[in-house]
Amino acid sequence: MADCLFCKIVAGELAATIVAESELALAFADINPATPGHTLVIPRAHAQDVQDVTASDLRATTELAQQVARAAFERLGADGVNLLNSSGALAGQTVFHFHIHVIPRYDGDSMRPSWVPSPGDPDQIAAAAAALRGA
Ligand code: 5GP
Ligand code: ZN
Repeated sequence: MADCLFCKIVAGELAATIVAESELALAFADINPATPGHTLVIPRAHAQDVQDVTASDLRATTELAQQVARAAFERLGADGVNLLNSSGALAGQTVFHFHIHVIPRYDGDSMRPSWVPSPGDPDQIAAAAAALRGA
């Protein structure tokens, strides 16, 4: 994709700090890290979001994200890791090439959960689940 920032990184036209790579996926450091070691993992082939990415590219991206997550525990001493994908502008996606954020977590870091869990309405829970099932 001509105007895609992450396609330019894959093509070597834009500099990035590479963390790991595989045949179908690439992992590089986020330039605005939430925590030390914050890494973006992408398929080399352009896909806009979770709806668009092929199963094999999704698998390759997820497997590379797991490798980076393990390295965060083992080599950075992370106490936890969040894997995050935003699909769609409303969900916070700003770069429209599918990516998984691997965010190492450390005791006392500034990451906060994006929702406050509270009990849902059982009818709404059941209705949404039924809609998702296609019932
Ligand atoms: P999103 O908001 O789409 O979930 O995530 C996009 C991420 O890409 C952001 O965390 C942002 O910091 C990162 N980002 C944006 N431009 C660049 C860039 O040119 N290089 C790198 N390495 N990361 C970028
Ligand atoms: Zn792209």
